[in-house]
Amino acid sequence: MSNVKSSNLGYPRIGENREWKKALEQYWAEQIEKDEFLKQMEEIRLQHLQKQIDQGIDLIPVGDFSLYDQVLDTAVMFGLVPKRFEYSGGKVSLETYFHIARGTKGAVASEMTKWFNTNYHYIVPELDEAEPVLIENRPLQFYKEAKQKLNIKGKPVILGPITFVSLAKGYNESQFKELVNQFVPLYAEILRELQNEGVEWVQIDEPILSTSISKETMSLFYNVYEALNEAAPHVKVILQTYFEAIEFYEETISLPVHGIGFDFVHDQGKNLEALKKHGYPKDKVLAAGIIDGRNIWRADLEKQYSVLEEIEHFVSKGRIIVQPSSSLLHVPVTVKSEEKLDKILSDALSFADEKLQEVVILSKGIHDGKEAIQDDILKSTKSIALLNQSSFRNNKAVQEASQHLDTYKAEREAPFHVRQGIQEKSFQLPLLPTTTIGSFPQTQEVRKQRLKWRKGELTNTEYKHFIQAEIKKWIEIQEELGIDVLVHGEFERTDMVEYFGEKLDGFVFTKFGWVQSYGSRCVKPPLIYGDVSFKDPMTVEETVYAQSLTDKPVKGMLTGPITILNWSFVRDDISRYGVANQIALALRKEIEELEKNGIRMIQVDEPAIREGLPLKREKWENYLNAAVYAFKLSTSVVKNETQIHTHMCYSDFEEIIDAIHDLDADVISIETSRSHGELIHAFEDNTYDKGIGLGVYDIHSPRVPKLEELITNIDRALQVLDPKFFWINPDCGLKTRGEEETIAALKVMVRAAEQSRERF
Ligand code: GLN
Ligand code: ZN
Repeated sequence: MSNVKSSNLGYPRIGENREWKKALEQYWAEQIEKDEFLKQMEEIRLQHLQKQIDQGIDLIPVGDFSLYDQVLDTAVMFGLVPKRFEYSGGKVSLETYFHIARGTKGAVASEMTKWFNTNYHYIVPELDEAEPVLIENRPLQFYKEAKQKLNIKGKPVILGPITFVSLAKGYNESQFKELVNQFVPLYAEILRELQNEGVEWVQIDEPILSTSISKETMSLFYNVYEALNEAAPHVKVILQTYFEAIEFYEETISLPVHGIGFDFVHDQGKNLEALKKHGYPKDKVLAAGIIDGRNIWRADLEKQYSVLEEIEHFVSKGRIIVQPSSSLLHVPVTVKSEEKLDKILSDALSFADEKLQEVVILSKGIHDGKEAIQDDILKSTKSIALLNQSSFRNNKAVQEASQHLDTYKAEREAPFHVRQGIQEKSFQLPLLPTTTIGSFPQTQEVRKQRLKWRKGELTNTEYKHFIQAEIKKWIEIQEELGIDVLVHGEFERTDMVEYFGEKLDGFVFTKFGWVQSYGSRCVKPPLIYGDVSFKDPMTVEETVYAQSLTDKPVKGMLTGPITILNWSFVRDDISRYGVANQIALALRKEIEELEKNGIRMIQVDEPAIREGLPLKREKWENYLNAAVYAFKLSTSVVKNETQIHTHMCYSDFEEIIDAIHDLDADVISIETSRSHGELIHAFEDNTYDKGIGLGVYDIHSPRVPKLEELITNIDRALQVLDPKFFWINPDCGLKTRGEEETIAALKVMVRAAEQSRERF
C-alpha cells in the first residue's frame, strides 16, 4: 500500500478548558476521591484519542498522556523512586508518584528542569544507586486501553533509554554507558511484550540526537538499538527526534530501526540539506515533522508541501509519514475557543487541533497529488498574506527604526568604573546597600481589587487609588525597615510579561491559549503577532508616585526584551532577534521616560536569559550576542549617573558569565538558593567586578531566616567578591510570600547588613 500516513507525536493533556488541571488540583485538595479522579483522567485521555481519530490521524500516539510528567512516568515504570520517599518495590502508588513530583513534609520533591529548549519542565530522575526493574509496561497498558475502549491500534510512545539517562542525574560521565546498558534489557522486554500483543508501530523519542552529543554517545545508539531490534524485530520502531537538526545524520539513518522522525521546522533547513547530500536508506520509513509543534501560526501549506516534494525525491511515497515537528504538548488545544480575537489574526492561528488538520491535508496532498488539496493551500496562503499585509505588521515607524538600529546608541556613555564613581557620589549609599528584587506580597485583596477593576466594577480612578495606597503602605514599611534602595512593589502586575504585553502594541492575549508549564501549572503566553511599539508610559506613574513619598532612591522595574521574547509565542515571519530589538526599542522609550521623570535607578529583569540558550552549542554565541545587544539597546539610553540594575533567577551561570558581564549593568542581583555555592565559583573564576547582589536568603519558603545564616551567606560571598560592589537582597521577588513573614525576613536581612558593615 502506498498510503501516505499521517501521524501525531503527542497531544496536549490539559484539555480545552484545563479540565485536566482542575481534576488534578481537586484531587490534591482532597475534594475528589482517587477513583473519581482516575475516572475523570481516563475520560480526558480517551476523549483526546477520540478527537485524533475524528481528525483522521492514522498513527495515534498512546501513552503520551500523563498524570504529571512523561519523564516521571518513565522513571516510575522502572521503579526509580528516590530513597527518601520510602518505597519498597512493586507498583508505584499514585501517592508516591505525586510525592516525587511535589514533595512531602519530610522529603523534598525531585528537582524539575526545562525540557530541552521549551518552557515545559520535567521531573529529573535520580539514578544514584538505581536498580531499575520493569515494574509495569505502561506503553502496553495504554495500547490495550485504546484498543479495548476505542478499537484502535495506537502507536505507543516511549522515552528512549539514551535520552532518559541523559536527562537524569545522580551519576558521573564515566557511568553513563553502563547505566544506559542497565536499561536496555528492560526496554527490550517492553518491546517484546508489545510485539506479542501485535503492536505495529512504536515511537521511541530520542531528542538527545538533536543536541550536540559526542561521537561516543552516537556509537552507543548503535549498540542499544541493535539490541532492541533483536528483541522485537517485527515492531516498527520510529526513532523520533525533534527541536533541532540531527547532529550525526549519516550515523543516525543507518541505525537498525524501521524509521527515523525528523524535525523539518526547527532545523534551519539542515535536515533537508543532509537528506539531499547523503540520501536516505531505501528500506526505511521517514517520518517528516512538517507542521510546527512549537508555535501557534497557521502553516504555509504551499511551502511545507514543497518541502515534502523535495523529500519525495529521496524517499518513496509509501515510506513517508506526515506529522508535526514535535509533540503538540507545547501548543494550546484549539483556536475554536478564541471567539474574541480579530478575524485576521485568528485565521492565521493554528493550535493542536488545527495542526492535526494540516497534517492530514498534507498527507492527502502527497498521496493524491497537489490538486487534491488546492483549496486548503489557497486558504492558508490567503490567511497568512492577510496578516502579513495588515497594519499590525506594517508599522512604518517600527520598521524604519529596525532598519536603522545603528543610529541608536547601544553602549553606555562611560565605562563602568567611571559611572561607578559618579553614581557613588550621587547616591551616597552605605557599604553593602540593601534592596529587594521588585515585587511585594500580592495579597488576596490585591487580586480581588484587580479582578473587580477588570470586570468594570471598579473605576480606573478607584483602582489607581487602591494601588497607590498599597505603594504608600510598602514605602513606609521599607523606610521603617531601613532598606536603602526601595521599590514600589509591582502591585499593579499579575505577571511580569503580561503586564508589558498588555501595554505595548503588537501583543495579544488569547482566552484559552494555555500550555502546561509543569505539573498542573499552566501558562498563557502572549502572542507577539505584529510590530511591537511603545504607546504610553507603562510604569512611570507608579514609580514616580513611590519616589514622591521618599528621599531614598526608588528603583524603576521593567521586564527585559529577552525574557519577554522567551515567554511569548513569537511571530515567525521575521527573525526572533528582530522581534527582540523591537521590544528593546519600546523599552528604551520607557526607560527614557522614567529617567526624564526623575527616576535614577532602573532595573531591567532578565530571568529567562539562560533558558533561551539554543540546543546546539554552535548557536550559543549568536544568541548571547543578540541577547546582550537587545539588553543594551534598551538600557544604554540613560545618563552615566543613572544606575541600571538587572536580575536573574537561578540558573547555570557558568556558561553565560561572559554574556552577563557584557550586559554592562551597574548592578546585578542573582538567585542563589538552589545553587549550593556553585554560583559564587562562577563569579569568582571570572572576577566579576560590577555591582552584584547574591540573594542572601531563599524566598521560596515562608520560613524566616536566622541572622547567623545570613551572616554566613554574606561572609561566604565576601570571600570572593569585593565588598565595595556587594549588595544585600533576597533571592527573587516576594510576590508569592505573606506580608508578615516578608517583613520579618527583611528585618533580619537589614540587621545582617548592619552587622556585616561594622566589620569594615
Ligand atoms: N521584579 C520581579 C519580581 O520581583 C522579578 C521576578 C523574577 O525574577 N522572575 O517579581
Ligand atoms: Zn528571580
